[in-house]
Amino acid sequence: MIKEQLASEQPIAYRTLSHALMHNKIAHAYLFHGPSGTPKLECAYLLAQSLLCEHVDRDGFACEKCIACNRIKDHNFADMVILDGKNTSIKKENILKLQYKFHKTGLEHTGKKIYILNFAENATADALNSLLKFLEEPASEMIAILVVEQMDRLLPTIISRCQPIPFHPLTFDYCFKKMKKEMDILDAYLLSKMIRSLNEIRDVSESDEYQHARYVLEKFLSAFILSPYRGLDVLLQNGFDQKKQRDAKQSMRYFLDMLMVFYRDVMIENQIGSGGWYEKQLIEYRKKQTAVIKLLEIAMHTRDKLWKSVNISLLCDQMVDQMKEAVQ
Ligand SMILES: [Zn+2]
Repeated sequence: MIKEQLASEQPIAYRTLSHALMHNKIAHAYLFHGPSGTPKLECAYLLAQSLLCEHVDRDGFACEKCIACNRIKDHNFADMVILDGKNTSIKKENILKLQYKFHKTGLEHTGKKIYILNFAENATADALNSLLKFLEEPASEMIAILVVEQMDRLLPTIISRCQPIPFHPLTFDYCFKKMKKEMDILDAYLLSKMIRSLNEIRDVSESDEYQHARYVLEKFLSAFILSPYRGLDVLLQNGFDQKKQRDAKQSMRYFLDMLMVFYRDVMIENQIGSGGWYEKQLIEYRKKQTAVIKLLEIAMHTRDKLWKSVNISLLCDQMVDQMKEAVQ
C-alpha cells in the first residue's frame, strides 16, 4: 500500500499530509518535489483518494480499496484531471479548456475537483499562473497537486502559492537492509547502490535488461582480470547489441553502473557478506589497485557518452581498448 510506503520512506510528507487531512486544512495547491525515483506521483494519487475515500484511516489517509479509491487509481473519476508534462509541455490552452469544463457544477457528487500536474516544471508559466489564479477563487473546491523533479525551473511566484511537500531519496543502508530480505543479496547490494527507490529496485531486478547486464558483469570481470583480451571477447560475444536486445542501451547502462560500483568497492575495501563471485573478484582486482582508478574513469566516461551514442557496440569496443591500455 502506498500509504505504508509513504509512512516508512517519506515521514515528513506523511506527517504533513496527515495533519492537513485530519484537521481539514487542505491547501489549494501542493507542490510535491524531489528527485526521480521518489514516490511523488503515487502520493499525489493517494492524496486525491484521501479526499474522496469513504473509509479513511485514523491518520486521515484513504483505505486504497473502496470504490472511490479504485476509481481514482484507474483514472476513472470525472472530477480529477491529470496533465502530464513528461514528454510534452503543458500549455495555457490545456488549463483553460479544463477550467471551462470544471467551471460549473462538478460531475461527481463530492463537489471536489482535483488537478494533478505531473512534471509541472514542463508547464509554461502562463499555464501555471492561470491555474493558480483560478484555484484561489473563494468558491473554488479545487485542489491542484504539482509534481516536480526540478523545482528551480518553476517561477518563485508559482512556488510561493503552493504548499511544498519535499520527497527525499532513500539512503543506501535503508534500501539494502529492506531488499536483501526479498532478493539475492548481491542484487540487493548492487541495485541499492544504483537506485534509491524500493519499487524501482524491485522492477529493475526482474527486467531482462538488468538480468543480462548482471550476467555480462560476472563474465566480464572474471575474464578481464585474466587477460583484457578475454574481457573484450566476453563483451563482443555476450555484450549489448541493439539488434538482439529490446533495450540494449538500458542494459549497458546497468552494466556500467554496476561496473562503477565494483571498481569503487575495490578501492574502498568494502565487504558485502555475499561470499560469492563478486567478493572473490574484489580480492583479485585489489592486487591491481593502481589500474582500478583508471578503469573507473573509463567506465564513467563511457557512461557519459552512452545516451548520445548511436552505435553502442562501437562504444563497447572503445571502452575495452582503453581498458587494455590502462592495465598494461
Ligand atoms: Zn477508500
